[in-house]
Amino acid sequence: MKNVRAVVPQCPICSGQNTVFVSQHFNFLNTEIWFCSLCRHWFGYPEPNILDLDRYYREIYSPRRKSYFGEEYYVFMERRAKAQSRFIEESLSRCAIPINMQQWRIMDWGCGIGALVAEFQHRGSDVIGYDSDLEAIEIGQKRWTANITLSSSHDLDVCHGLIDLLLLSHVIEHFSNIRQTLQDLIQVLKPGRFVFIEVPNCSSDMFNVPADHESHLNFFSSQSLIRLLENLGVQVITCLSCGPPREQTIPKQQSSPNYDSSPLMVRGMNFLQKLTSIRMRDKHIRTIYDGFYDHYSPDENGMWLRCLARI
Ligand SMILES: [Zn+2]
Repeated sequence: MKNVRAVVPQCPICSGQNTVFVSQHFNFLNTEIWFCSLCRHWFGYPEPNILDLDRYYREIYSPRRKSYFGEEYYVFMERRAKAQSRFIEESLSRCAIPINMQQWRIMDWGCGIGALVAEFQHRGSDVIGYDSDLEAIEIGQKRWTANITLSSSHDLDVCHGLIDLLLLSHVIEHFSNIRQTLQDLIQVLKPGRFVFIEVPNCSSDMFNVPADHESHLNFFSSQSLIRLLENLGVQVITCLSCGPPREQTIPKQQSSPNYDSSPLMVRGMNFLQKLTSIRMRDKHIRTIYDGFYDHYSPDENGMWLRCLARI
């Protein structure tokens, strides 16, 4: 579809106006998806208001996440948490930063069921996780005795300048007013300390077919993620693409027999199940059981972007 609008939206990452209309947003009636060619970023415009967002999370997002809850999902999250913590450790050691996380204060914002919180607890850190989904919190508390609790905006004020490591795993793609929201969040960090971010790694293929956008308002490429952080004065230490090759989980076209409009998480889990088959093992694609989450794609084609940065 051609962009015929008289006024085009500014890119929320680089403020550029080389933006083109891509599609309607799957989840929000009055929101469209636009693409910025300068920093390769896709974004929702206009952003839904707070009432629409609240309603979406309450009525659709939380019930859907709840439907995944079960042993397989918990193991999925445990494996990912281990890979993420190893990534953080390795990134720090590569830039010769002494790591004694037992003395670190760590905050996980949007922690979900809290697997990453539990992982750092296990390593002896002083860690707390916040989420808005009470049901997810109760699961993490029960399964891992994770130190996680319901979030409020007050939590950020209380922790201002006290945190060594802020964890934002699959969170910032949901933010509206992304630069300001991220700026407000990193205020919890002590000067010179660290933020970990993981987001889906987007490409134009993802918008060629109608798919559930899972309420994301920002769709990152490595360029746009790095640009966002640098514009906030945050120094990127490592930013890598990881996970399975994303073309394996993106249908080529709607008429394809493998077409699947289900959310990325579900497609990821379906893909994981396929990976356990002998056929996939023969292709030497890593699986959930042998380092799948530690697979870093040299061609930037993995499903996710994993990043450690320093303020
Ligand atoms: Zn841009």
